Amino acid sequence: MPTVTTKKPTKKAAQKKPAPKSATAKKPAARAHAPARTERISTNPATGEDLGSYPVFTPDEVRAAIARARAAQPRWAAFPLAKRIEFMKRVKRDILNHMGDLAELISKESGKPRVEAHNAEIILICDLIDYFSKEAPKLLADEKLPMPQVAFKTKSTKLFYAPLGVIGIISPWNWPFAIPMSEIIMALICGNTVVLKPAEPTSLCGLRIGELFDRAGVPEGVVEVVSGSGSTTGQALVEGDVDKVVFTGSVEVGRHIMETAAKRLCPAVLELGGKDPMIICEDAYLNAAAEAAVWGAFFNQGQVCASVERVYVHETVYDEFVDLVVEKAGKLRVGNPMDPDVDLGSMINHAQVKTVHAQVQRALKAGARVLTGGEPVEPVKGGAFYSPTVMVDVRQDMEIMQEETFGPVLPIMKFTTDEEAVALANDSRFGLSASVFSKNLKRAELIARQIRTGAVSINDCCYTYGLPQAPWGGEKESGVGRTHSRFGLYEFVSIRSLGTEMLGQVKRPYWYPYSQGTYEMLQKATSLLYSDSPLEGVLRILGSGKNGG
Ligand code: NAP
Ligand code: MG
Repeated sequence: MPTVTTKKPTKKAAQKKPAPKSATAKKPAARAHAPARTERISTNPATGEDLGSYPVFTPDEVRAAIARARAAQPRWAAFPLAKRIEFMKRVKRDILNHMGDLAELISKESGKPRVEAHNAEIILICDLIDYFSKEAPKLLADEKLPMPQVAFKTKSTKLFYAPLGVIGIISPWNWPFAIPMSEIIMALICGNTVVLKPAEPTSLCGLRIGELFDRAGVPEGVVEVVSGSGSTTGQALVEGDVDKVVFTGSVEVGRHIMETAAKRLCPAVLELGGKDPMIICEDAYLNAAAEAAVWGAFFNQGQVCASVERVYVHETVYDEFVDLVVEKAGKLRVGNPMDPDVDLGSMINHAQVKTVHAQVQRALKAGARVLTGGEPVEPVKGGAFYSPTVMVDVRQDMEIMQEETFGPVLPIMKFTTDEEAVALANDSRFGLSASVFSKNLKRAELIARQIRTGAVSINDCCYTYGLPQAPWGGEKESGVGRTHSRFGLYEFVSIRSLGTEMLGQVKRPYWYPYSQGTYEMLQKATSLLYSDSPLEGVLRILGSGKNGG
């Protein structure tokens, strides 16, 4: 069984409580430009500690925030790109100056170990700011297009990138800092303004993001944060006057967002759930592969869109691999995520613990076996913890192999041939990411290229989102569109062309009036320009007349 780090009991965790009149909770310096009607308290899911209150934005207040963002956008876009980048660098300096406080807030509000808050959220954003600060001037520069067409030789054409306007960003609680921050940074660099609706359980992280941009001196209205519930505040944002919605969250809500946005033909990027497979070939470095599986399945308590959610192991090394995984999982320490010697913190809330446990129970009923874990634990009284769980005797048709678990559960199955492993990996409605482990990199790549996911990694897992230069996004029900990389940046612009005729005083041959002569001239030109050789073109013209060619 995993080790449980026990801490002295604290108050029972509670979520979405109304704020007490006495307002004893610490107030975050919220970027709440309009007075909100009600406030709620955010609690630490590991301890029940009150972390502070956040305003609940009404639909009217959301519309007002969008209007402020709309009003601010032309001025923001009018700043030279270098100036917008300088603002992002100021944000980065502020992050660096307050990295300890930030990691603490992220850890306390989301339940993830502080090391992960630093590693997977703070470093990721510093790196992303550096990457786009350097690359955006190249990626967003005007591009002169070649003009090989004879008829257009006197024209020049360039493509350029214009901001879309106001971007509505809706983010999840599992990466409460890095996900919204990376979308905001890319959107702002492109000259858009944004309205962010953070996931309600991590509203304080969302408000802290607004504060970062305030402190960097970004003008009023450029980053608006509207905290509140998904169904009211978030819904108002999607229905509001935004030019694009960038949503990260579950498939079910993502589908609803797309349907809602489609009514206005508003484009939407959807970064959704996953059921990521890991394939372990018989020639893999087995110990390292087992370490990877344990980390990939259990970091952030398995509440990772790209976490390892199912492992397929070659039958000849299956027993050895399972033993290694069970041994390593059993050594993990579960406890208060602020404790530096803890590997797994708390789940986001008790509801998530229940959801995960119910899925494990259904798998057991269907014939699976738990080798370690498999139950809620309470290293801190009242906290929302679940033990890292390894399951075997699972079948491909079980819910545990098909539906996203979003918890620390690792089901392991055998395979016989590479073809079978690929088929099993692809047998899913999801397609976010995957990993393949083998010493033979050629063989691993052959397998990797056949897996239908937005990202595949060889001999490691779950790190692609941390690369700002790599596209991130899903296939099938895992999403629509991309984030990060040049493709993610281009989600925030209108890609336009601008054509200029250099001989403005001259009439074009394709303008009016039309005549038989024009028609014949066009036919001859077509033969000359598009035949396989000039000789063939001439012969085609000489032999013409039968069918008009
Ligand atoms: P969720 O329940 O879908 O919520 C995501 C966001 O949508 C939250 O801010 C939520 O607000 C809001 N929302 C809910 N209903 C809404 C509505 N009707 N209109 C507008 N917004 C609405 O997802 P979650 O539980 O926060 O996050 C977990 C899911 O996110 C998992 O499925 C995970 O795989 C996925 N995820 C994907 C990626 C990726 O990059 N592909 C990354 C991280 C997470 P409330 O919190 O107030 O309900
Ligand atoms: Mg998981």
